[in-house]
Amino acid sequence: MSNIDRRRFLKYSAGGLVGVTLGSVSIRAFAEEKLSEDDVTAKALKYVHKSPVEGAVCANCMQIKGAGEEWLGCNIFPGKLVNANGWCAAWMKKPA
Ligand code: SF4
Repeated sequence: MSNIDRRRFLKYSAGGLVGVTLGSVSIRAFAEEKLSEDDVTAKALKYVHKSPVEGAVCANCMQIKGAGEEWLGCNIFPGKLVNANGWCAAWMKKPA
């Protein structure tokens, strides 16, 4: 592969990665919406966006998916995003 071919390959590869990344972000935005405190399951599990329990928040619960965002996925509420500072009755401490 010549230097020019390699440069062209790297340029198009990088473009492809950006496209795939942006594509997955937009798919995620459509697939997941913020969980409402009025949702039937949320009410059953007493979910709230602001935890009433000191030291127990969605961000340190073993059911949370991901980290570092204000709104994250949760195994208990598939397809919904919960607040990192939220809480529900299913909270269990994430193993260290
Ligand atoms: S199970 Fe409850 S406390 Fe744990 S992340 Fe999900 S909503 Fe938050």
